[in-house]
Amino acid sequence: MADNSATFLMSNMMPQAPNNNQQTWANLENYARSLVEDGNEHYIVCGSYGKGGTGSSGYATTLASDHVTVPAHCWKVRVVLPIGNNDMSRISSSTRVIAVNTPNDNSLSSNWGSYRTSVDALESATSLDLLSALPTSVQTTLEAKTDTGPTK
Ligand code: MN
Ligand code: MN
Repeated sequence: MADNSATFLMSNMMPQAPNNNQQTWANLENYARSLVEDGNEHYIVCGSYGKGGTGSSGYATTLASDHVTVPAHCWKVRVVLPIGNNDMSRISSSTRVIAVNTPNDNSLSSNWGSYRTSVDALESATSLDLLSALPTSVQTTLEAKTDTGPTK
């Protein structure tokens, strides 16, 4: 879907610690791919916040002569729906939402599941209103939950 190419673009623009990108997020992407293979589609929102991360050559707040900010946290929200039509109307308070918030630090765990959080926590951290196209009642319920489903 179109959202997906935007996602990859954004993650390419975001300086991520190698172990964050190549291990933790890669494991999350592999799991997400298995969900798609099982007949689901995903809506994805992602981004970063804060300043200062620790990559393979140590801590940095900026790269490329201060032109690129190194974020402190990288986050992603996936709404998982069985493939179908009229997606907005099918998202309910029992829809699986996987929200993760990872430190941009090369010493992070490769277990993405340990970084699961609620959408509300991400909204507090970023000052964004995520999933804002959903009815308020659905947002309130979905955004308060932290995913406890399988991680592989
Ligand atoms: Mn909220
Ligand atoms: Mn919201």
